[in-house]
Amino acid sequence: MHRDTMILHAGYRAHQEAGPFLAGPQFSSTYTAPGEPSSHPLTYGRFHNPTWTAWEEALGVLEGGHAVAYASGMAAVAAVFGVCLKPGDVIVLPADSYYTTRWLASDWLKAIGVDVRLAPTRDDAQAGVLEGARLLWIETPTNPQLDVCDIEALVRTARSLGVLVAVDNTTATAWLQQPLALGADYVVASDTKALTGHSDLVLGHVATADPGRVTALRTWRTQQGSIPGPMEVWLAHRSLATLPLRLDRQCASAHQLADFLTSQSAVEAVYYPGLSDHPGHAIAKRQMQAFGGVVSFDLGTRARAERFLSSLSLVREATSFGGVHSTAERRARWGGDAISEGFIRFSVGCESSDDILNDVARALEPAAG
Ligand SMILES: *Cc1c(COP(=O)(O)O)cnc(C)c1O
Repeated sequence: MHRDTMILHAGYRAHQEAGPFLAGPQFSSTYTAPGEPSSHPLTYGRFHNPTWTAWEEALGVLEGGHAVAYASGMAAVAAVFGVCLKPGDVIVLPADSYYTTRWLASDWLKAIGVDVRLAPTRDDAQAGVLEGARLLWIETPTNPQLDVCDIEALVRTARSLGVLVAVDNTTATAWLQQPLALGADYVVASDTKALTGHSDLVLGHVATADPGRVTALRTWRTQQGSIPGPMEVWLAHRSLATLPLRLDRQCASAHQLADFLTSQSAVEAVYYPGLSDHPGHAIAKRQMQAFGGVVSFDLGTRARAERFLSSLSLVREATSFGGVHSTAERRARWGGDAISEGFIRFSVGCESSDDILNDVARALEPAAG
């Protein structure tokens, strides 16, 4: 069966089973469960929930492994840090990773005695600082600069040095890129973004091929209480069925937008792995099914970027990415990334690409002035 068909049906009730295709969200903090707790499949809402179980089954199909759902992408990041690292260990992070991942590492991991090493994503530079490390953290394409590294090559080097590998796969999603098949030990994702794509929830998950690691990740969730809400999980599951459709269009339109932007004099640089002059293009082409729905570009100055954003009439100025509605923001307004004041992160939605391009073209006129 085609993978897209499997994703569409993943975690749904069996074809022969009467009733709804996808059971509704189960809202229960406690369950009637007399006597011996282990004789009951359901006891307490922090331990398990059938809505999570169906969602995790679906995520397992998508990832090609086993998945554990968390309250947010950062809760998933913290879970992998938590189950892998102890005082005295070394983690190698991308110097250009999602900012909050580095922030969590510098605040929490350093405080508990974990050594944090940073190296750029580009040119697989992290491979050069792996000696003695416990965990290599990869993010590709990076948010927001869309740099790319070679997952398979980094996994090979890490393996030879006994280093575990986790991949933050948020920007790509498992539909475009499957790190477990490339040998990664853990995949982490914020499901707030393109995976669910409707700008209506915050969620995350971790996937792994190893059942022992699943148990550790579940125990972490039970102890830390970083559990997802059943309503969010159900909405996410409902959204997953259209992931291939949504992303297919988003990637195609993003490519068109990137091509268009490279022809514009007001645009100083375009960052998109689908462009043949992107430094990671060859690797992205090999390890991704398509190049993603985010395009970043540089308008040079803060004033030009602000003029561009305020001149958009269809595309909303908002943070986050991956939703069906196009959004854009001046990323430097948040701080934490080594980017220009005029750097725009543009998330391409599911509108007609003509409408997106027209809106951008009109908004670039005042930006050029
Ligand atoms: C958004 C994001 C996260 C954090 O996810 P939340 O759901 O906001 O907690 C982690 N990594 C990357 C690459 C992200 O874009």
